[in-house]
Amino acid sequence: MNENEILAMYEDAGALLNGHFVLSSGRHSSRYLQSALVLMNISHATALAAELISKVSDEEIDMVVSPAIGGLVIGQEVARQLNKPFIFTERKEGEMQLRRGFSIPEGTRLLVVEDVITTGGSVRECMVVVREHGGTPIKVLAVVDRAPDAEGRFDVPFATAISLSVETHDPSDCPLCREGVLPAIKPGSRGAA
Ligand SMILES: [Zn+2]
Repeated sequence: MNENEILAMYEDAGALLNGHFVLSSGRHSSRYLQSALVLMNISHATALAAELISKVSDEEIDMVVSPAIGGLVIGQEVARQLNKPFIFTERKEGEMQLRRGFSIPEGTRLLVVEDVITTGGSVRECMVVVREHGGTPIKVLAVVDRAPDAEGRFDVPFATAISLSVETHDPSDCPLCREGVLPAIKPGSRGAA
């Protein structure tokens, strides 16, 4: 699949929203990507996971991990196609943790999978948890990179299916707020924006 086909998939699913949104970073934007609306279609999830797996060359992978909630569906599907175990990290009282009895055997090599990445905060927190538990993140994969110009977000290789630069604004200097475009809504979970 090329980038245009994937973008068309988002548009057809009504997953490219226009309005006034509060992103997980707290910044405001006139566009929002709701990947859940694309990934609810099983054939789309299958195709996007295959696209991400095509970005993995000869790296040895033992396990797939995603930060909840945004990464859960695509991470599970990537793991299914690779026939590897899938675990996830999640926030409890704001802090990313490994819960639900998941463990990471020492030296496990993990692929980190997310749906949409902007600042990459959730993925970095996920990787901290993985390392604390003895695992080694090998590569980060995401369906959409919303900030393709950002540098140095991760200390491991990073690949995405598509890049889609979206302008964001500090809430104290947001043209949409100034124009009175109300309300600024937060349409998804942290990590889904
Ligand atoms: Zn605003």
